Amino acid sequence: MIKEVNAKTLLSNCKNPSMWFGVKYNMNIYRGCQHGCIYCDSRSECYRIENFDDILVKVNAIDLLKAELPRKRVKGTVGTGAMSDPYGPVEKEYRLTGRALEVIAERRFPVHITTKSNLVLRDVETLQEINRIYASVSFTVTAADDELAGKIEPGAPSPTDRFKAMGVLSTLGICTGITLMPVLPFLEDNEENIRDIVIKAKEYGASYIYPSFGMTLRDRQRDYYYRKLDTLFPGIKEKYIKKFGLRYGCGVNHGSKLKQLFYELCKKYGISTSMPSYEKKISAYQLSILDGEG
Ligand code: SF4
Repeated sequence: MIKEVNAKTLLSNCKNPSMWFGVKYNMNIYRGCQHGCIYCDSRSECYRIENFDDILVKVNAIDLLKAELPRKRVKGTVGTGAMSDPYGPVEKEYRLTGRALEVIAERRFPVHITTKSNLVLRDVETLQEINRIYASVSFTVTAADDELAGKIEPGAPSPTDRFKAMGVLSTLGICTGITLMPVLPFLEDNEENIRDIVIKAKEYGASYIYPSFGMTLRDRQRDYYYRKLDTLFPGIKEKYIKKFGLRYGCGVNHGSKLKQLFYELCKKYGISTSMPSYEKKISAYQLSILDGEG
C-alpha cells in the first residue's frame, strides 16, 4: 500500500557526522521500503513502523527542503538512504528523490546516497552538477550472486545491475563504492562471496568498500527474519538460535579469516576500506595545495 502524507519537517541533524560518510543532515523522503530485504533493521520495534512494506510518501518533501536548506548555516553533507531506500520502485512514479537532488544542486550542498538501485542513474546529470561540490553514492551489496540476492533482497535490483550502475558513476568521476553490510552468518560469510564482491568492485571502479562482518537482530526484525529463513533456507534458523540465542550482534563464522582475506584483497586491488566524505575531500585538496606551495 502506498499512502501520501504531508510531513512537518524533512531534514534531521546528525549528531555524529563522521560516523556515516560525513552526513550532517539526514533526509528520508519515503518511510517503509519496497526492496523487502529479509534482514532489514528498520523493522525493529524502536522505529515504530507497524508495516514496513507499506510506503509513506512525503509528498510535500520538495517544499520542505526548499524551506529548510537555506536555513542551514553549515554546508554539511545531505544524506539519504538510512531508513529506507531513496530509489525504491515508488521513486519511479514520484521522482521526489530526483527533485530533491535538484534543490540540493541549486543550493550547492554536498550529498551522499546509499541505495541498492540502479534507478539512481536517472539522476546522473544532477549528480554531476552536485559533484562540482561533492557527490558520493554507496551501493549496498551483501551477496555477489544474483540468485542468492534475489531471495535475500527480493524487491531490489540485482547485484549485477548495482555493479553496472557503479561503473557508470565511477566513469563519470563520481565517488562510488560499496557498503558491504550486513554479511549474513551461514548464508554470505564464505570466502567465495567476499572474494567475488571485491573483484567485481575493482572491475566496476569502486573506490572503497566499507564492511561490517555480521548482522544485528532484535525483536520483531528477528521474528520476520526467522520466518523468512524457514521458508527460504530451511534449517538455518536453528543454527542462529544455537549460536546467537537472543544476542543483538551476530558475527560471521570464521571472522578473522574472512576479514584477513577481505583486507588483503582490497589492498591488492587498491580499494580503500574507509568511508569517504566531503570533509576528507576538502582536507586532501588543502594538503595538495600546501604541498604544491612547499
Ligand atoms: S533497501 Fe535498505 S531500507 Fe530497504 S528493505 Fe533493504 S535494508 Fe531495508
